[in-house]
Amino acid sequence: MIIIMKDNASKQDISAVEKRLSEFGFQTHPIFGEKKTVIGAIGDKRQISMNEILLMSGVENVVPIMRPYKLASKELKQEKSVIDVGHGVTIGGKKLAVFAGPCAIESREHFLKMARLVKEAGANILRGGAFKPRTSPYAFGGLEDEGLKIMREAADELSMPACTEVMDTRDVELVAKYADIIQIGARNMQNFKLLREVGKINKPVFLKRGLASTIEEWLMAAEYIMSEGNDNVILCERGIRTYETSTRNTFDVSAIPVTQELTHLPIIGDPSHAAGNYKYVPAIAKAAIAAGADGLMIEVHDCPECAASDGPQSLKPDKFAALMQELGKIAEVIGKEI
Ligand code: PEP
Ligand code: MN
Repeated sequence: MIIIMKDNASKQDISAVEKRLSEFGFQTHPIFGEKKTVIGAIGDKRQISMNEILLMSGVENVVPIMRPYKLASKELKQEKSVIDVGHGVTIGGKKLAVFAGPCAIESREHFLKMARLVKEAGANILRGGAFKPRTSPYAFGGLEDEGLKIMREAADELSMPACTEVMDTRDVELVAKYADIIQIGARNMQNFKLLREVGKINKPVFLKRGLASTIEEWLMAAEYIMSEGNDNVILCERGIRTYETSTRNTFDVSAIPVTQELTHLPIIGDPSHAAGNYKYVPAIAKAAIAAGADGLMIEVHDCPECAASDGPQSLKPDKFAALMQELGKIAEVIGKEI
């Protein structure tokens, strides 16, 4: 439920309400707005006297949260979350976030080259996998620790935040040491232990939608992370499985406005993993921005035919640069910038 405090509620009023709620076993989550403070309270409603809370000093109203996800819900927080990912980059505001880089970090030389090229084209966040979830156990699984170090070196050289995936609870601490943003891949969207683990760290989490997950399941996954105290969750629509086989997945463009109606969390579109084919990436990228996405994640590789993973869907650097120019025009129309 949500405890809405009066405009003139004092700090003491707020902490007294929080204290009483925690005595009833509730986890409290204050949100300090410009004028008003609201307190999200997560727990068993049957244990509490709503009236008692309503009568406390500084309390204006107590309302239940109807959605199954609470902290992620717009019922709790109407104002959009703007997430600071470091190096002066925020996600969820007027400026679009563009994550770009190869699917996997293949070598130091290659990643540095790709990182410089995507930055030059206008990307503001680096991406690259060091731990790769591969369908085949015989496929390249990533450079792991070495890959993380390469990513950090490139990110520091270019003063850009970097995003990389973690697949195992045992690697969370290690990945968090090197990355600015921790990615939870589509295949792990419902790995609840992993979600809880990244909920305990102090780094933004990039949560990809599961291959066959509903929007509600996806938001429940975000709730797992937030329930552990990490509010900095960025959602990513990366295509879902449908009966259509001409693309790798089907990009669910409607997920962008629907999600924005349900949650305050920012949402990024990933046309690369949706399309599975570089030819369709620009059109899907433009559709995602036109639909209101807060940014994009795009795979870029200078030699797609020799890429260690996801070559067929990777844009060559010149195509990526051309797309960035076109996206600038769309951004302008919808009051955003790139
Ligand atoms: C990736 O970003 O390279 C990746 C594996 O993505 P997804 O989890 O969406 O398949
Ligand atoms: Mn990939």
